[in-house]
Amino acid sequence: MILRWRDVHDQPRGIDIHDTVELPNLVKDNRQVIAMSPAAADLHAQLVSDTLTVDGKLQAQVTYRCSRCLTDYQDELQADFSERFVRAASTDLADEDERIPVIGDQIELDPYLEQEILLAMPYTPLCRAECAGLCPECGVNRNEHVCECRTERIDPRLADLAKLLEQE
Ligand SMILES: [Zn+2]
Ligand SMILES: [Zn+2]
Repeated sequence: MILRWRDVHDQPRGIDIHDTVELPNLVKDNRQVIAMSPAAADLHAQLVSDTLTVDGKLQAQVTYRCSRCLTDYQDELQADFSERFVRAASTDLADEDERIPVIGDQIELDPYLEQEILLAMPYTPLCRAECAGLCPECGVNRNEHVCECRTERIDPRLADLAKLLEQE
C-alpha cells in the first residue's frame, strides 16, 4: 500500500484510505499463524505542518494454531494504527523524534501495517482461555477426550526415595 505525499498535500482535510492489503510475511514468519485474510485498512492521512499523520484501524481474519492443543482456530484481529512521517533524512532528526523519516514522495506502508498487526497478535494463541491442551503422556486432545493417564508429577527426589524404600 503506497501513500503519496503529494496526494495528501493537495487535500487540506487529508484523505481517507479504505483498502485491503496482503501481508504474507506475517504468516511466513510466525509458526503459530497458519493463514490470514488480506488486512482491511481504514485510515486517514493528513498533513499537519510538516508531519504526515496516518491514523485508523486495521482488521483481519487470522487462523492461529493453539499453543496448547495444536488445533487451528480462527479469530478476528483488530489493531489501531498511528504513525507519523516527516520528509527528512534520518540524520536530520533528533534521537527523541518518533517520526519516521521519508525520502521522496512515496511511503510504502506495508512494513508499518505489518508491525502493528504483529503487536496485536497473541503471544501464545489459545483456542479458548480454558483450553485443556494435550495429554503429555498419550497426546490425546483433552478438550475432546478423557484419558486414563496419571499426570500428577512426582517430585524426582521423592521418586528416588520411593525406589530406595522398595529395595529394603
Ligand atoms: Zn487449544
Ligand atoms: Zn493421556
